[in-house]
Amino acid sequence: MKKIPFVTLEEVEKISQTWPTPFYVYDEKRIRENARKVNRAFSWNKGFKEYFAVKATPNPYILKILHEEGCGADCSSLAELVLAKVAGITGNEIMFSSNDTPAGEFAATAKLNGIINLDDITHIDFLKKEAGIPETICCRYNPGGTYTISNGIMDNPGDSKYGMTKDQLFEAYNRLRELGAKKFGIHSFLVSNTVTNDYYPMLAADLFRLAVELKEKTGIKLSFVNLSGGVGVPYEPGKKGNDIEVIGEGVRKAFEEILVPAGLSDVAIFTEMGRFMLAPYGELVTQAIHEKHIYKEYIGVDACAANLMRPAMYGAYHHITVLGKEDVACDHKYDVTGSLCENNDKFAIDRMLPRIEMGDYLVIHDTGAHGFAMGYNYNGRLWSAELLKQTDGTFKEIRRAQTLKDYFATFDNTEFAKDLL
Ligand SMILES: *Cc1c(COP(=O)(O)O)cnc(C)c1O
Repeated sequence: MKKIPFVTLEEVEKISQTWPTPFYVYDEKRIRENARKVNRAFSWNKGFKEYFAVKATPNPYILKILHEEGCGADCSSLAELVLAKVAGITGNEIMFSSNDTPAGEFAATAKLNGIINLDDITHIDFLKKEAGIPETICCRYNPGGTYTISNGIMDNPGDSKYGMTKDQLFEAYNRLRELGAKKFGIHSFLVSNTVTNDYYPMLAADLFRLAVELKEKTGIKLSFVNLSGGVGVPYEPGKKGNDIEVIGEGVRKAFEEILVPAGLSDVAIFTEMGRFMLAPYGELVTQAIHEKHIYKEYIGVDACAANLMRPAMYGAYHHITVLGKEDVACDHKYDVTGSLCENNDKFAIDRMLPRIEMGDYLVIHDTGAHGFAMGYNYNGRLWSAELLKQTDGTFKEIRRAQTLKDYFATFDNTEFAKDLL
């Protein structure tokens, strides 16, 4: 499938007069449509809830839109808890899935009545001291080894820092019950960015079987199974995406085969998707400001890896459209670069694109999740603005661009001028 930007050249020419490039823009209409699709796909499950992974797009306006569509928030730091609260998300609409948790954050979650998801068995005592053991609690599971589905090895949970072993998990539930917990959940996140409809159903089946075993061995009946994140999107054009309806049906099938016969038909299904909820509905818009002809052809743009780190960090592919040249032949091979003094600051390498003129606007696709969020200030490069294309087609600023004043806000330069003051 051809990737078509949701902003047009005319729109970008107009809005860049108010918000100079680079900027992020999100598509409210499609965010809502997709969230509705997710909720429909799991509507067979009475307690279903998607807890949007705040780290993917930590903007309260986005959280509010998702909350209006019935989503909660998956947080893992104090700032993310604050974001959830600002967006009006509290109580059991907050899942706190942290790891290596600093002091104070369980207490903050408890104040908001959020659900705490324990990454480790040693966190039980830590939590007990800090906030007491709540009535509802979740534990994170790591099966170890490698995780294999039909088309081969997907990832290596045995090498990942998250979750508890099976023995620890069962021991943790027993201890938590002794300490007064009444409602229990299980959580597991094994593979990132899966582009297959099989991942959630397979993970669900594994967790459902564990739930049955837990009930048989300890009498503890789980209240919810949290499938966490990991549902991916196709970043390359022509690659087929996930069908959330098929995924929902796959999870339902496992539910009916494993949980229902075991008398566990009240179990609620939770998810913590980030990428699937937002990635396709955000775009980074940038302008070509330099061209360079040496051993290769370079196009320099006004965004850099500080605005979007994924290509530099993971070698991730992000599709690029040159606005207004959608139908022009891609007969030029370019490296599209930012200005960081880091040679990996390239949004594309050897990419076939139409001939690019200075001043052309480039749209970097599928940057709505883990895009702006991973921004940093290397080389003193500043964060861009974030805009929302609202359902009525108008644009609204949902985060202003960082300024030099912001950049220097933590630095007291009067220290160096004491003799003058
Ligand atoms: C990152 C993360 C997610 C979201 O992952 P996606 O790949 O964006 O779906 C969900 N839960 C936890 C605990 C995470 O760390």
